[in-house]
Amino acid sequence: MDLAIETLKELIACPSVTPREAGAFAVVQNAAPDFAAERIDINGVSNLLLTRNGGFDAPRLCFAGHIDVVPSGEGWFSDPFAPTEKDGRVFGRGAQDMKAGVAAFVAACAKTPYKGRLSILLTSDEEGDAIWGTKAVLERLKERGDLPDFAIVAEPTSEEVFGDTIKIGRRGSINGTLTIAGKSGHVAYPEKLDNPIDKIARVLPLLSGARLDAGDEFFAPSRLIFSDVRGGYEKTNLTPSAVKLMFNVRNRPQTDEKAIKVFIENALKKASIGEYEIALKTSALAFIARDERLIGALSNAIAAQTGATPKLSTGGGTSDARFFAAHNVPVAEFGVRNDLIHAPNESVSIAEVKSLTLVFCDLITRIGAIDRAA
Ligand SMILES: [Zn+2]
Repeated sequence: MDLAIETLKELIACPSVTPREAGAFAVVQNAAPDFAAERIDINGVSNLLLTRNGGFDAPRLCFAGHIDVVPSGEGWFSDPFAPTEKDGRVFGRGAQDMKAGVAAFVAACAKTPYKGRLSILLTSDEEGDAIWGTKAVLERLKERGDLPDFAIVAEPTSEEVFGDTIKIGRRGSINGTLTIAGKSGHVAYPEKLDNPIDKIARVLPLLSGARLDAGDEFFAPSRLIFSDVRGGYEKTNLTPSAVKLMFNVRNRPQTDEKAIKVFIENALKKASIGEYEIALKTSALAFIARDERLIGALSNAIAAQTGATPKLSTGGGTSDARFFAAHNVPVAEFGVRNDLIHAPNESVSIAEVKSLTLVFCDLITRIGAIDRAA
C-alpha cells in the first residue's frame, strides 16, 4: 500500500481536536523510522521534531504542519474520525486541513535520500491560539542555532485544480481606535461648542475607506475601514465630550502600525483636529517571504509532476508560515485543494495526495542541489 495514503488514514483515525495529538505523533514516527524524534511540549501543547542528518552540507530543509483539527460538527455521513474511502477520496476530519499535507511530506521524507539535514516539525496547536506550537518551537530552535534554511508548510493551498496556487505571504490585520476630544455643551449655543461630531465630519472624508498605499503585485491596497462610532449621551440637546471610532486595516507588510499612524495624524492635522488619541494593535502580522530559490524549486517540482503552473498568492486565513517568516526563514505553503476544509464530510482526493507526495520528493532533490553557501 502507498505510504502516504496509509499514513493519511492512520492520522484521520486519531481524534486530534486542538490541542490533542491523540496518537498522531506515533503514526508519523512509525512512518519515518530513520528520523530522530524529539518531543518539544510547551505549556500543555504537544510538538514533535523529527530530524535526519545526511552528514553533508546542503540547505537545512524543514517540512512543517499541524496535526490538530477543528471539531467535527454535525452532518457527516460517516464517522469523521474513521477514515472512509469512497469514489477515489478519503473522508474524515482533517483530510484536507491538513493531514493530507502531513502524510505526503512524511512519506516523501521517508522515501527520498537527502545529503543534508531534513526535518519535520509538527504541532497540535495551529487551529487554536497557536502560541505554544510552531511559534514557541522556532524560538527554541533559534536559541540553539537550529533554524532551517528553507521551510515548506503543507497547508491546503490549491484552489480550482491541484497545483494551481503557492502561498508566499499573507496580508496582516491591524485594529485601531481613534478618539477625538471636545467639550460637551448645550445645542442651543453652537458658538460656544467644541463639538467632536463636527470634527469627525471634517476628518472622515479623509480617512474612511482611504487607501494607505497603492498595493503591489502580491497585495491589494491597504485600506482603512471604520467599524464603529460611539460617543454622546443619547440626547438631542447635549453634545458629546468625545467620540470614539474603531477601525481595521488589512495591510501589506510595508504599511505597518507606524505608517498607519502617520497617515491618520496627517489627516487630523489637515482637518485641524485638536486633541485626539490613536491606539493601534497588530492582530496578524503581514509578511512576504519570497525567496527565488525556494519558489523556483517548488514551482519547477509542481510543473514537472503535475503540468500545472502555480500562481503566487497572499490570500486566505493565517497559517504557521508566518512564524518562519518572523525569523527570516524563506517559507512557502503548498498543498491539496482546500474546498472542503472545516466542513462536514471533509475529504481529499487520493490522486492529489499521491501527486503531492511526488512533488515533495522532487522538491527535496531540487533543494539538495542548491549550494548552501550561495
Ligand atoms: Zn490548516
